Amino acid sequence: MPFPKIAIIGAGPGGLTLASMLQCSGIKPTIFELDKDRSSRDQGGIIDLHADGGQLALKEAGLFEKFQEIIIPSAEALKLMKSNGEVVWDENNSAAAPPETSRDRPEVDRSNLRNLLLDAVDPDTIHWNHKLLQVEPVGAKYNLHFSDSIETGFDLVIGADGAWSKVRPLVSNETPYYSGITFIELQAHDVSVKKPWLNEFIGSGSFFMFDEGLALIGQQNSFDRIRIYLGVRQPESWMDECGINWEEPKSARGVLAESYFGDCHGDLKRVILEEATDSLIVRRLYMLPVGLSWEMRSGVTLLGDAAHLMTPFAGVGVNVAMVDAMELAREIMRWKDAFVDGDATALDEAVKVYEERMFVRAKKNMEKTYHGLVSHFSAGGIDERVGLLKKRARMLEERRKEQVKA
Ligand SMILES: Cc1cc2nc3c(=O)[nH]c(=O)nc-3n(C[C@H](O)[C@H](O)[C@H](O)COP(=O)(O)OP(=O)(O)OC[C@H]3O[C@@H](n4cnc5c(N)ncnc54)[C@H](O)[C@@H]3O)c2cc1C
Repeated sequence: MPFPKIAIIGAGPGGLTLASMLQCSGIKPTIFELDKDRSSRDQGGIIDLHADGGQLALKEAGLFEKFQEIIIPSAEALKLMKSNGEVVWDENNSAAAPPETSRDRPEVDRSNLRNLLLDAVDPDTIHWNHKLLQVEPVGAKYNLHFSDSIETGFDLVIGADGAWSKVRPLVSNETPYYSGITFIELQAHDVSVKKPWLNEFIGSGSFFMFDEGLALIGQQNSFDRIRIYLGVRQPESWMDECGINWEEPKSARGVLAESYFGDCHGDLKRVILEEATDSLIVRRLYMLPVGLSWEMRSGVTLLGDAAHLMTPFAGVGVNVAMVDAMELAREIMRWKDAFVDGDATALDEAVKVYEERMFVRAKKNMEKTYHGLVSHFSAGGIDERVGLLKKRARMLEERRKEQVKA
């Protein structure tokens, strides 16, 4: 019996991790990706990979050593500020934070992570410029309809195609709903030369200010850039109806600084008005219902954002997508011998076991993320975060003392 024909829709971190692991065990899926090529889109800022998340998947895919080459060590530093300008935590400055604060969550540039994963997959596995429109069930198999072609006869279709998955409708009627938060993303380029004040203000890693209904998040990115996310808790229609002309970034930044961040310290307004002035993109944040699950359907499954889209307020999305990929790859590999022996139901069993565990993991992370959303946009959010950081620092200090004693 020939090995089942597997399609992975989407070459994001989830789809690529799955493909690289399957390939290692001699299973060759086909990836269909809507981007024209690997460099046709800005992949976004930096992300941290957790020891029990993305790092684990990279270890299992044999990519951990290469991953260590792309880590940005200084980017782990955290700085937290209240809206009145009081710095309440600063790992760039050891007087304002304990020295031993590493969370073992190294930061990498998203495009470097994607390139690492792309390089690990056979180039002929990826079919670029293939935007999936629809999946058509035909008997026990599936045909894939793209903008200008049809690919036929797949035994397993894996939707790793993110928030607006075109595979999801085969297993669920749910679609993402507005989270209540709109992000305005600003950028500053050539910061070391042109924006030294901003460079110093944000620090070498990530910067957070949360308050009731608003947040300002900054991060150092590769290529001497700083990315700023202004978060506002506003209705879904706000972006279109607030009267801000997004086509006029200077005036848009002026209205944001004065009308929405008007009560904040002058330094925070300076970031918006004078510093992060090189680009402006506005986007609403969507999420799937916490605890989403579905009845197993033979020949179809989802991973990553396609299965459990969350807001970024716990910083876990990439990590969970990569763990999904690792666990699905493990299950498919575990059942490989049964396929070869002619057991047609083996693939269903692999998907069933994967989904049962994935639903539990997704629910836990969606709950954590929802808590993060509430906390990022509440008056006490910064104090809560500092409390957690202090608790962790105390724990590390206790551990260090015990090690010295031993
Ligand atoms: C502002 C922001 C900050 C974030 N920060 C973090 C963070 O710090 N840490 C973290 O862990 N997570 C973070 N996340 C979440 C993280 O980006 C996602 O959870 C993660 O990218 C999901 O990976 P994925 O592979 O499931 O999907 P995606 O990364 O969305 O990849 C999906 C792929 O499928 C392709 N695709 C989509 N539709 C189609 C189609 N119809 N046909 C073919 N191809 C298609 C896309 O082009 C893409 O390549 C953040 C998200 C946002 C919005």
